[in-house]
Amino acid sequence: MKKRVGIIGFRGMVGSVLVERMRAEGDFELIEPVFLSTSQSGGQAPLGNEPIRSALSLEELLKLDVIVSCQGGDYTTQMHPELRKQGYSGYFIDAASTLRMAEGATIILDPVNRAQIDSALANGHKDFIGGNCTVSLMLMAIHGLYQRGLVEWVSSMTYQAASGAGAKNMRELLLQLGFIAERTSSVVANAAESALALDRAAANALADAALPQAEFGAPLALNLLPWIDKAVGEGATREEWKGHAESNKILGNDPEIPVDGICVRVGAMRCHSQGLTIKLKRDVPLDQIEGILREQNAWVKLVENERQATLAELSPKAVSGSLTVAIGRLKKLRMGPHYLGAFTVGDQLLWGAAEPLRRMLRILLER
Ligand code: NAP
Repeated sequence: MKKRVGIIGFRGMVGSVLVERMRAEGDFELIEPVFLSTSQSGGQAPLGNEPIRSALSLEELLKLDVIVSCQGGDYTTQMHPELRKQGYSGYFIDAASTLRMAEGATIILDPVNRAQIDSALANGHKDFIGGNCTVSLMLMAIHGLYQRGLVEWVSSMTYQAASGAGAKNMRELLLQLGFIAERTSSVVANAAESALALDRAAANALADAALPQAEFGAPLALNLLPWIDKAVGEGATREEWKGHAESNKILGNDPEIPVDGICVRVGAMRCHSQGLTIKLKRDVPLDQIEGILREQNAWVKLVENERQATLAELSPKAVSGSLTVAIGRLKKLRMGPHYLGAFTVGDQLLWGAAEPLRRMLRILLER
């Protein structure tokens, strides 16, 4: 009999990408899908004849074999403990960060930690949580180095897309671009205009109180924002804290391997990029490192460290909408032969969010 799988949050950004991927991979043919929403129950589901069910109804949730939630942390905080209290013994696969560090919950990124997932399943664990987008993308790009015991520490300086902040923020970035284009159009139209006049027009547009910025709290277009999420002390943000905490949990490192850096929002749409400095435990020749990275999983793409390949293949534009995780600009840094520099780009809605959830569901179905 097909498993009854509830999909909560299918209207949101991560949920929409998840449903798109499940359609592409034929996952719906293997399950009895139930679509749930906190606001649209009774409406037409995107698939099948059943109406949309209420995601707030414990009675509906208790009928499900597997729950896949892309609804958000508030929903998980409200519903998960109540569900378990009511004796729900099905699997809970979640995109939200709420349960990631909880004991008994596994952060899922199966190309990296399949053994950990299998062991959690064998031990009867039921909560499987997608990792932070930046962390998952970093590990997809370099886990081979970790698995060979080569990593002493990693510093990741991120360039994170607007989509990581939600659909409203993506729209706001486009609104900002439109506003700036409109305010600068007469100066731009005159090819004889001086550089200073162009700069002044752009600066005036950015300083204009009418520039839409309710979501980001500042202009992102023609700008960048070196602060993501809230402060957690010691000068760090929560996004930066996740880099260390989640990567170590996913890899099961003991002792932990330090990961730190500064997380920055930039005006890309849906791909996160990271400039990495990796301190290696020993001096490994670059060609060996390239071999390790190439072989670590089927989705990583090594981009040659030269101009044309880099501009064509190592950018948000090149990677957006694909499962490819690109890594390039590989070089030994001036600090010494143990210091490796690299740049990586991945679609944060695919490997960064929806894909590990979809693959976890497949792992459950194949058991
Ligand atoms: P989202 O787009 O804001 O969607 C969340 C919910 O908002 C939807 O399921 C929907 O719930 C409701 N909603 C209200 N108005 C809507 C509208 N006009 N269109 C669509 N949905 C609307 O959230 P998200 O970015 O997908 O994130 C979901 C979870 O995944 C969060 O916990 C987030 O932290 C996590 N996550 C996000 C990313 C990312 O890149 N965004 C990456 C990794 C993990 P109802 O149907 O119940 O109204």
